[in-house]
Amino acid sequence: MRNASILSLFVAALVGSVAQAGSAARDNPHYITNRAPLAAKPYTELPIGAIEPTGWLRRQLEIMASGMTGRLDELYPQVVGPRNGWLGGDGDGWERGPYWIDGLLPLAYILKDRTLIEKVRPWVEWTLTHQTEDGYIGPVPFEVRPTPEPGIQKSPRRDWWPKMVMLKVLQQYYMATGDARVIDVMTKYFRYQLRELPKTPLGHWSFWGNRRGGDNLLVVLWLYNITGDGFLLELAELIGEQTHPYTEIFLERGDIALHRYEQGVNGASAFHCVNLAQGIKEPVIYYQLHPEEKHLRAVKKAFADIRKYHGQPHGLYGADEGMHGRVLTQGSEFCTCVEMMFSLEKMLEITGDVAFADHLEKLAYNMLPTQATDDYMARQYFQQANQVTCAMHMHNFFDHTTDGVVFGLLTGYPCCTCNLHQGWPKFVGHLWMASADNGLAALVYGASKVTAKVAQGQTVTITEETCYPFSESVRFTVSTSAAVTFALHLRIPAWCGDAKITVNGRPFGGNLEAGRIARVERPWSNGDIVELTLPMTMRTERWHENSLSIERGPLVYALRIEESWTAHEQYREVQPTSPWNYALLEANLKDMDAAYTVAMGDVAALEPWNLRNAPITIKTKGARLPHWQLYSGMAGPIPWSPQGRQDNWPIEDITLVPYGCSTLRITAFPTVR
Ligand SMILES: [Zn+2]
Repeated sequence: MRNASILSLFVAALVGSVAQAGSAARDNPHYITNRAPLAAKPYTELPIGAIEPTGWLRRQLEIMASGMTGRLDELYPQVVGPRNGWLGGDGDGWERGPYWIDGLLPLAYILKDRTLIEKVRPWVEWTLTHQTEDGYIGPVPFEVRPTPEPGIQKSPRRDWWPKMVMLKVLQQYYMATGDARVIDVMTKYFRYQLRELPKTPLGHWSFWGNRRGGDNLLVVLWLYNITGDGFLLELAELIGEQTHPYTEIFLERGDIALHRYEQGVNGASAFHCVNLAQGIKEPVIYYQLHPEEKHLRAVKKAFADIRKYHGQPHGLYGADEGMHGRVLTQGSEFCTCVEMMFSLEKMLEITGDVAFADHLEKLAYNMLPTQATDDYMARQYFQQANQVTCAMHMHNFFDHTTDGVVFGLLTGYPCCTCNLHQGWPKFVGHLWMASADNGLAALVYGASKVTAKVAQGQTVTITEETCYPFSESVRFTVSTSAAVTFALHLRIPAWCGDAKITVNGRPFGGNLEAGRIARVERPWSNGDIVELTLPMTMRTERWHENSLSIERGPLVYALRIEESWTAHEQYREVQPTSPWNYALLEANLKDMDAAYTVAMGDVAALEPWNLRNAPITIKTKGARLPHWQLYSGMAGPIPWSPQGRQDNWPIEDITLVPYGCSTLRITAFPTVR
């Protein structure tokens, strides 16, 4: 990378200074973690730059740097160009500029890419240097203004919501650089919020502010952990009061069950898909202020209800803007994916709940790779679990009916164009976390190298070598200048009943139960090796109309459908060139190891997320269902399972590939007896 060696020294020096900031915190003294009276949290994020991705993960970030993420200002200048309000211009002053920087900033600092860091700088600098006397940050407020370019949002510039995104940007900027101006500007802004919110609550200018207050809250608590300013707790309470009451709604009302425009009882109303992905973490963020068990229970119930009423085999839900049920051709928005990932990352830190880590990997290793093109120059607004064409056509979506599933820069709706960038960089940023016992935790797995402080402050490096999620083994090598005792926390996924850990070749004797975190504490010496083995077995899940999906380890599998791509001026469409209307055979479920043959390809592929390079394939038999055909540009209504087999339904060899490698796919299959 450009000037990587000079810059890495620069970033390495700053990692040390960021670490100092949390030294007053009561748990891990090396990093920013909760101070009293906030509830202690088991894990906390490391400074940006402490974790370096390697293997395909690094390649993925490099592709983003040369694709949309690194070049959005050239590709979408009418909104994120120099006239943007967050750069002092008269253009868009809403969420989209901050959205882009929310992903570009961590990407730039993880890759230590000087060109990208320079692109980020004006956005951060303008915000830091244009705070008003009374503490307001962001675009100069004017309530009604001419629209300088078509398609730009005419939203009130005082709206609290876009500031919440910029707060996340500033927080990350501090975590990457240690720039103390962030602390001063945030403190002043939060005093402004404390004065103004009673008059103009979070939802005053837009309902986004009310629904997404959890994002505001998490930055307030983060700053409190650094400064200990008591007024921040007062503000946190106020934000908690003014945010949509998620805990009560999840526990006591039926909002999640509703589809868009359905009216519920007791004021219940359907969720917006992205609001739910962002808002679902609010009870857990708030739990730090008031550690009552009901907040955690509410989120668990919410996930169960989402699964029940809208659940899809890829790990999210059917929702085209509003929640839209379990039908397997209902879309899932790109923003929903990356916001849910961020929510899971934050909830994992606060709870250490393995279910959140399992879910996070499910999204990162199945949905996230497939919603953008391999060159990261185009993306879908919606992806479908059963997606057999991606073409301009009327679809059964509430909105964006014709261009919802094609790949383009601005097709569907442009929020995703700006917001999608946070997915991979923040995932990389949570591959490793500091643990409350001054150790290190790998709770999601990916090839990487972490350098961090442990024990009494000794710096160690751990190299994580793996082809996960395609391989079952993860090898950790400790590098330290002197022997040091600390705990290495390793997640045992709920899907893995037969995990093994060895330390320098000798079996680890601790608890390796599925769905728990193994804690390997010992005196570590330079060159010590930990081998984690996570055997992956086949399993099934049932979905809409009793359809069946296949999973193996962290990956969901989908029918391999050959793709024909056509580039149009504004978008790319994809058509199938092989049949898709297959059912799986119920008889084959009795002995899946015999009926489903797993073949390993190049698990070390640097660009694994496409059909050409799919590192794992599974061969089995399928029955063609002549009555299951295209309808309205989508796979028609899925036949009820199991179907009684007819003689004219041919049994054929079929191939399954990882969902993330597919563009066209059947993921939930009908079955035949
Ligand atoms: Zn979006």
